[in-house]
Amino acid sequence: MPRYDFRCRSCGATFELRRPMSQANAPAVCPEGHEDTVKLLSTVAVTGTAAGGAASAAPAGGGGGCCGGGCCG
Ligand SMILES: [Zn+2]
Repeated sequence: MPRYDFRCRSCGATFELRRPMSQANAPAVCPEGHEDTVKLLSTVAVTGTAAGGAASAAPAGGGGGCCGGGCCG
């Protein structure tokens, strides 16, 4: 069930209510009992935030070492 944030214009309190989408625009009453409330834009929960890249650098491979070719000695 989605949550909706409301703000009371009488006392300035913000509160959230869980209600079905069909009642998203239904009037909400402040916990203090005020009815002059406005619905705030609900923040969509962001899922799947990639934390930490797994970019692995390719290992530096030695190609054609001098000592391996017999040129050093
Ligand atoms: Zn209030």
